Amino acid sequence: MSRAYNFCAGPAALPTAVLEQAQQEMLDFQGKGLSIMEMSHRDKVFVDIAEKAEQDLRDLMGISDDYAVLFLQGGASTQFAMVPMNLLGEGETADYINTGQWSRKAIKEAARYGNINVAASSEDTHFTTVPPQDSWKLSSNPAYVHYCPNETIGGLEYSFIPEVGDTTLVADMSSTILSRPLDVNRFGLIYAGAQKNIGPAGLTLVIVRKDLLGKAADTVPAMLNYQTHADNGSMYNTPPTYAWYLAGLVFEWLKKQGGVAEMAKINQRKAEKLYGFIDDSAFYSNPVEVISRSQMNVPFVLADDRLDKQFLAEADAAGLLNLKGHRSVGGMRASIYNAVPEAAVDALIAFMAEFESKNA
Ligand SMILES: *Cc1c(COP(=O)(O)O)cnc(C)c1O
Repeated sequence: MSRAYNFCAGPAALPTAVLEQAQQEMLDFQGKGLSIMEMSHRDKVFVDIAEKAEQDLRDLMGISDDYAVLFLQGGASTQFAMVPMNLLGEGETADYINTGQWSRKAIKEAARYGNINVAASSEDTHFTTVPPQDSWKLSSNPAYVHYCPNETIGGLEYSFIPEVGDTTLVADMSSTILSRPLDVNRFGLIYAGAQKNIGPAGLTLVIVRKDLLGKAADTVPAMLNYQTHADNGSMYNTPPTYAWYLAGLVFEWLKKQGGVAEMAKINQRKAEKLYGFIDDSAFYSNPVEVISRSQMNVPFVLADDRLDKQFLAEADAAGLLNLKGHRSVGGMRASIYNAVPEAAVDALIAFMAEFESKNA
């Protein structure tokens, strides 16, 4: 068996050790004679797995009892609707910062439910910058401020947490959660699709301060009301049990690596190496302002885009997979989440250097 290096933006690489454990436990989970997938979510065996996963996440992120942790479905895209459905009251306004494709989608969806004020946008720089906070035009009393700390497609990451006083701060952390330490107390609500830095697709994580529960109108469907899931331990209906179990294995793995502080050091090293190489080369380039470059998603273009196809084919043959950039941006993108080892970045840089020497 050989595992390639996978730079996919999502669903993304998972730690090999996690997959091996899942493989080993798949047919007969700890002597129970069945797979997790075949087990009731009410079974004590699964409830224990679920509770441990939540506790490990709370430990990793330092999440206090003031917050509920929800294991949901529907992806981050469903959160684009659930956030306003639960937090935006009749006649209220919510502020959004537009820094890329995912912010834009969140704004478009939220606008279906209430008044949305786009308080700042970096569309005029093609989303290669984060608008400085002193340029934001926040409304006088917004229900919340929403932003996307790491824009997965453009490779743009905020170098700061917005300062919004007592206003509720909401963040789409799909592609940055668990990549570095975070002060959760700065946020009212954090959400993330699992398939980037948590586990397999099909699971969506929501961390919500408990005082924000119970604000949804009566017309909001039970399944789209955070209160429903908080009241039922995310088991109001059948949760995505296997994805939840796998996320739990990833949390255990993260703890073994030394937690998010240790991952942050490795992630910084990986990103610095790759950006450093790109910046030193006249053949590759990255358009994002240096201070706002993503540590997780590194887009880059070749000086001559006629070489793109050849680059991707040769990378593939060298076991470096899924480097094609998003269709809206073009070029290449290397996603280097927690589960992508430093050796993968080293191999990518060696490949890029060789490709450059042959084709520049
Ligand atoms: C991938 C991604 C999404 C979409 O997630 P789904 O789970 O596919 O709905 C939203 N926001 C960000 C920042 C993402 O990276």
